[in-house]
Amino acid sequence: MRQLLVLVFLLGLIATAFSILSNRPSAIDFRIYGIGLGMTRQQVQAKLGPPQEEKPAEVPGIFSTATYPKGEPTITYSLEGTVLRVRGSRLEWPDGVLLPTHSKLAVQETFPRAGSVAKTEFWLPDQRVVFRTWPLGDFASEGFESAELSVPYLMRERPRIPEQWENALLEDTARRSQNNFEVLQKSEVIGCFFCIEISPRSSQMLVDHQDELLTGRCPACGQPALLGGTRDEITPSYLRSVHDAWLRP
Ligand SMILES: [Zn+2]
Repeated sequence: MRQLLVLVFLLGLIATAFSILSNRPSAIDFRIYGIGLGMTRQQVQAKLGPPQEEKPAEVPGIFSTATYPKGEPTITYSLEGTVLRVRGSRLEWPDGVLLPTHSKLAVQETFPRAGSVAKTEFWLPDQRVVFRTWPLGDFASEGFESAELSVPYLMRERPRIPEQWENALLEDTARRSQNNFEVLQKSEVIGCFFCIEISPRSSQMLVDHQDELLTGRCPACGQPALLGGTRDEITPSYLRSVHDAWLRP
């Protein structure tokens, strides 16, 4: 009888540990100055008024970046006019806020799971948010400076982030869409997960030269978002699912 009780207790312990381990944290509803990913221009305008300035972003003709009268936040819109990235010094969520008056320590205490990207940048592995901190001048402490919410595509310059979002499709295509010029040249077809265009490999592919790495750019839209393979692999529906993984807010 006693052995049975011990067994039941142990099974209970294992079940509890398993449920804790498998219990993924749910997404936090982060906003910057009230603006969240996926909002429309109209929703943003209702909160911030019309933009002070709007110009093509680093990806001309595909995204545009708008700044608002108070100088913040900076918002990158998709062609369809939804928020793909927002940056600013006021990060809000349902039961809290981070402002430049908060220390770096306060940020780390609030988000103990935040990992470091670089010395002054860290991020939550499963959320689309990066925090920036800055030295306060006395060099004894650092403060919160700003935060950025973004779709993975616009965070590709921080190469480890997509992998840490635990999305197999992101991880796989992040690897295959960079330093891929040679592979693309041998593929039956090339497909772009940005504009969903599929072309024969002989088409005029553009190339990115970076540190001797060659990355193919899409002949249709110019994005470094190409995947190579056979006609059976590279289908519009496959490219659409990759597109959604990278670009859906
Ligand atoms: Zn394209």
